[in-house]
Amino acid sequence: MVELLASGGTLEMARAAFDNGADAVYVGAKGWSRRRALYEMDDDQVVEAARLARSRGKILRVAFNTLPASSEAPLFLSRTEALWRAGIRDFILTDPGLMKALKKRHPDAVVHASVGCTIGNVQDALFYKEAGASQVVAECRMDRETMRKIKREAGVGLEVLVHATMCWTLLGRCTMSSYARFARQVDDTGKDHFPGSPNRGGLCYRICLTDWDRVDGRGNLEAAGVKMPNPAFFRAEDVPELIDLGVDTIKIQGREYSTALVGEMVRFYRDLIDACLRDRAGFRMEPFRERMAAIVAGRDTERREKTAGLIGEARGDA
Ligand code: SF4
Repeated sequence: MVELLASGGTLEMARAAFDNGADAVYVGAKGWSRRRALYEMDDDQVVEAARLARSRGKILRVAFNTLPASSEAPLFLSRTEALWRAGIRDFILTDPGLMKALKKRHPDAVVHASVGCTIGNVQDALFYKEAGASQVVAECRMDRETMRKIKREAGVGLEVLVHATMCWTLLGRCTMSSYARFARQVDDTGKDHFPGSPNRGGLCYRICLTDWDRVDGRGNLEAAGVKMPNPAFFRAEDVPELIDLGVDTIKIQGREYSTALVGEMVRFYRDLIDACLRDRAGFRMEPFRERMAAIVAGRDTERREKTAGLIGEARGDA
């Protein structure tokens, strides 16, 4: 049965996601995920969210999905050890070395290879399986044939994002934000923080969506105010096909959206998946389209506001 995975930027959001039908929720371990601290959880909150999940027979996954310096490996092991003792068993990781280290220490740990791994083909999937992952996240541009091939040949679970931002560069490979605003701070545990690099545990300032000048090879201005294409997608229409294809997890990304919107998106996908599973032959998309349009409009409004704030922050306005 396909799993619906939703974002838990806060405890309140995790609760709303479960209340609205999510089978699993992912949260970011403070300092270790691809969002700013505001949308991450400290260990007490993670434990609380896991309790909430267990009380409903659901799953909580904890993301440690930034690329660490080797000096941070002991910190990772002590953080995950504390969470393991508190009953956390499900982790989302990017670094293959940390995957191996965690699996060596805890063979029963469930490790999923994060969206940050930029998994684009069956070889990537096999690589992360070898590192210890039992499930991999498909890169946003992955076509159906590649998904089928991974399901057929890799022997790992496959997770597909149905709501996310389609990065201009491959998701997990972008360094643009760090050129716009770079900072580095080491906290008192020794953890490095790089605001401006989601890959290193900071945030993306959505620099691709600012106005760019396009110049030719000699530096002459060809066009001003160019925006790189980076749409937020909403793949409701694809859900029936993803289910037919045997996708294991359908993921709604978006810890930075409002709790109300996340709850609405989860309810929408829950109803859609259930309708599809109940009667695949008779399933029709039409009744969902109007609802989808309203959610997309709400999502786009929040996204526009958020993007303007982030770009302003990168410029130093805030
Ligand atoms: S700057 Fe744009 S392309 Fe790069 S990570 Fe951010 S949203 Fe993605």
